[in-house]
Amino acid sequence: MQDVVVEVCGLTKFYRNQAVVSDVTFRIGRGEIVGLLGANGAGKSTTLRAMVGLVKPSRGQVRLFGKLLEPSLLRFVGALIERADLYPYLTAAEHIGLVSQLKGLKPTKAAMEQLLERVGLASVAHQHVRTYSYGMKQRLGLALTLVGEPELIILDEPLNGLDPEGIADTRRLITELQQEGRTVIVSSHLLAEVEQVATHLLVLHKGKLIAEGKIEQVLASYGTTTIIEAEHSAAELCALLEPVCSAVQVRSNAIRVASADVPLVVMRLANAGVRVTAVIPERSLEQFYFAATCQQ
Ligand code: ATP
Repeated sequence: MQDVVVEVCGLTKFYRNQAVVSDVTFRIGRGEIVGLLGANGAGKSTTLRAMVGLVKPSRGQVRLFGKLLEPSLLRFVGALIERADLYPYLTAAEHIGLVSQLKGLKPTKAAMEQLLERVGLASVAHQHVRTYSYGMKQRLGLALTLVGEPELIILDEPLNGLDPEGIADTRRLITELQQEGRTVIVSSHLLAEVEQVATHLLVLHKGKLIAEGKIEQVLASYGTTTIIEAEHSAAELCALLEPVCSAVQVRSNAIRVASADVPLVVMRLANAGVRVTAVIPERSLEQFYFAATCQQ
């Protein structure tokens, strides 16, 4: 494994005697982009907050860069959790200056401009934040996490409220950060976006970690399905296949079968004189997500 950047061990958090995060254990290696998934209330924000000391664990511990979590480690971390607290009468440039000061840094004017350029706010750098749209505030929140070039960047739902261009820009930025050797943890409900950007997954369900690992391994471990299209009605196809495997109708002439059954399905249909017109594997994060969370 690469250098371990985050180690969470047995993390448990109780609120009013109820465990909202329960015995969660995982490791994150340097350079990974980790997608943190889970339904509303699954415990994502609580887990992320515990990683930066904003929530005190009831049990368990968090280690960053090999050391037990302590305030001095946070200068290597940039976190945007839930939403950035912004001052309406300060500009984006002033926000960067303020956060730099808090981190004990004195960035050059060029570095500040470059940072705002990176999140697409260069043209409004000197405008009061009160004139910004929601998406522009999200972009500024993102810029603030990058002050001081942190090694670990934690983004809780950074895509909320962004337009398609903002989403694509953020995806590009996350990938660039990884290419620079940094580690990014991103929680999101936009599974298709996570699928495009993440190298690893953590899936929380009702406070418990139900899946983790490299994205392709996690998806493969849950099995997949394939769509078979043919020049026959789906009902006829299902009837033909019934003795050997299960199939469900998805369109008038298309059925869904388990990918493992595809050779058998194609052979049986061919033997019955049915012309198969398309074999389309389905392996999406969305499919995996619903399968994984329904099984629990
Ligand atoms: P979402 O996708 O809606 O942001 P989440 O996965 O981030 O959800 P959390 O915010 O971690 O979920 O919340 C997990 C559970 O803990 C929820 O049931 C929430 O109501 C509860 N919770 C969170 N913070 C507190 C708190 N300060 N006091 C009491 N309960 C809390």
